[in-house]
Amino acid sequence: MKIILLGPPGVGKGTQARLISSKYGIPHISTGDILRKAIADETELGLEAKEYINKGQLVPDELVISIVMERLKEKDCEKGFLLDGFPRTIKQAEALSGLIQIDKVINITASDETIIEKLVGRRFCKDCGATYHVHDVPPKEEGVCDECHCDLFQREDDKVDVIKSRLEVYKKETAPLIEYYKEKGMLATVTGLVGVDKVFAEIAKILESVA
Ligand code: ADP
Ligand code: ZN
Repeated sequence: MKIILLGPPGVGKGTQARLISSKYGIPHISTGDILRKAIADETELGLEAKEYINKGQLVPDELVISIVMERLKEKDCEKGFLLDGFPRTIKQAEALSGLIQIDKVINITASDETIIEKLVGRRFCKDCGATYHVHDVPPKEEGVCDECHCDLFQREDDKVDVIKSRLEVYKKETAPLIEYYKEKGMLATVTGLVGVDKVFAEIAKILESVA
């Protein structure tokens, strides 16, 4: 099963991706996670990517394409995989289609207002990676992880100005992929941010028809 998750930033792709990955036993490949790890490890890639990410811009195509192509060659991707955050431009989609046949593209949608509200309130645990939301999923004690009692932090690119540029970039660069995959007959659409379980049930229904 070879799947792409498409959708604006903050629509819950990461959460759904983890659920899909564990239900179907396929690796979850998130370019955002790969890039953030490179930043944390202070690799050459990380240093370059950081400049773009913290401004809400896209990392250059060549860089992201080569990261994903390398990752897809690994053994665990043979029986399938789930791409989260890639492709994000037509150029990336074309590079991918030259290499691999994708089974389904799932497009998750939500309004700008819901997205901004969600991203601004999002918090992460530095240590165990648990996620919280200041209103929707608050920790028991403000700023502290329930699981491991470490400090919570906000992603640099979850500040409101950066969120707005991420949404603009999404509309300009990534939204055209909806039409691109629709024309190829590969697209299915689900409404996001209406409850994790409800969204996942919709996705699972779509994936029943994929071998
Ligand atoms: P979100 O979907 O919440 O915006 P991600 O974690 O997927 O965030 O990505 C964070 C940032 O990493 C993006 O704003 C962008 O700068 C960079 N990035 C991730 N994937 C790609 C990609 N496929 N092409 C270019 N830049 C990317
Ligand atoms: Zn924690």
